[in-house]
Order: sequence, then C-alpha cells, then structure tokens
Amino acid sequence: MTQLSSLQRMVEDTSLTAQMPVLFVGHGNPMNAIEDNSFTQGWAKIVEKIPKPQAILCISAHWLTRGTRVTAMEMPKTIHDFYGFPKALFDVDYPAPGTPQLAKETQKLITRTSVHLDHDWGLDHGTWSVLVKMYPDANIPVFQLSLDRTKGAPYHYELAKELLELRKKGVLIVGSGNIVHNLRMASFAENPTPYDWAIEFDETAKNLIEKGDHRALIHYDRLGKAAQLAIPTPDHYWPLIYTLALKNKKDQLDFFNEELAFASGSMRSLIFSEKY
Ligand code: ZN
Repeated sequence: MTQLSSLQRMVEDTSLTAQMPVLFVGHGNPMNAIEDNSFTQGWAKIVEKIPKPQAILCISAHWLTRGTRVTAMEMPKTIHDFYGFPKALFDVDYPAPGTPQLAKETQKLITRTSVHLDHDWGLDHGTWSVLVKMYPDANIPVFQLSLDRTKGAPYHYELAKELLELRKKGVLIVGSGNIVHNLRMASFAENPTPYDWAIEFDETAKNLIEKGDHRALIHYDRLGKAAQLAIPTPDHYWPLIYTLALKNKKDQLDFFNEELAFASGSMRSLIFSEKY
C-alpha cells in the first residue's frame, strides 16, 4: 500500500467511526443574513473546523406544528417568514436541495410519534439566515424537522435522542433558536445594555450546559424569575433541547458567539464534537 492510499484509508476510517458534530446556533435578528458582523463570522468560522456534512437537518424555532413533520421535497423553497424588513432580505434565496431519502429515514428513526413527510414548508429564516453564512454555496442538502407545539421540553428531549443515528450518517444537526429570547422587551437601538435577568439566565444556562445538567435545563420553568423572563415562550429554547439530547459521551463542548444582543436576547451558540 502506498503512503498516500494508507493516509486516504485512515481519513475514510475516521469518517466512518466519528460522528458528525451537533450545533446549537443563536440566530437572533433575520438581518444577520445580509450583514457581516461578529455573529455571522462566528457561524462561518465554526464550520471551517468540521468535516463537510452529507446533509444538514435543522430544527428551527420558526417551524411549530401540531404533531411532528419533516420536510421531504426535492427543492425546498426559501420562506421569508417575517415582516417589516428591507427588500434586500426578502430577495435572499437559499437554493439548497432537499433530501427526500433522509427525510424518509428520519421518519423511520422516530418511534415516539408518527412523523409526517411534509411537502409544503421549505426553509424558514431560522434555517437559511444561518446557513447562508455557514455554507453560502447552498450545495449541501438541507431538511427541517418541526417542533410539536403541543408538547413540552421533556418530550422534545426524548424525541431528539432518536435522531442520534443521523450523526453517524454524516448529517449535521443544527438547533436554531436563542437561549434568551424575549422579543417584547427587545431593544433595537445600537448596542443596548442587556437586562440583568438576560445576563443571569445566559450564565445559568452556560453553567448547566458545562455541567451536563440536562435535567435542570429541560425543567427550565423551575429555574426562577430570570428563566421566566428569558423564555416567555419556549419556541426559541426548544432547539437547544434537541442539541443537548444529541450529545454523546465522546463529545467535547465549545461555545461561540457568547454575546447578548437586542438587550433581551443571547446569541450564545455551541458545538458538541468528537476530536477531528
Ligand atoms: Zn427567531
């Protein structure tokens, strides 16, 4: 065996045994999709450190359904699910292909509920506003799994565990939301001072994630006043629960984009990855 082919074999073996990393990304303001700032640079940098995924499964805060759905179309459309933003944001198209095959496999993997193959949704801004910076070429297939709005965090955590097999198939799973997200109290002034409770809950969440105390994070409603203000509705927090559930024993944890934004939001993002 030549040196080159043995090296190639080693690389292939690594890709067979190592699981794809799993991400949680704080997506924040949709304008990030067309801006160049520290957050978008953080998104672009993190994917430079990981193998190229076979596909990307996104669990976005912006797809809430009754029951669980997985997008199964060949070509998901870019959904501009917001109002009052500049035309330049509505002009963004993220033409990544879908992956009906992996959608069907995901449907089979989930035993907790019957998953519907969806042909109506597409890619909402929780997905494309981040991926347009991570993978601007849009040449990796992307599909989404919805959040069942009728269930609670413990249910989402258990359901998410059933997706672990996808990491072994080279699928990059991305939870996209915000750990602290209170839009009612948001300020869009330049560099607003974050609320004390936003700083407090972001720190609490960071410590619990570092400790691996998923139980406390699942039962966030028991974490006091700061948690109540940070998570007035669970939609942006649930994607974190998916990411936590997909951690395996070999994973190391790294945070990135550890900043507060719009006074009542946290952009804290994280990656669980085996050593590459
Ligand atoms: Zn959002």
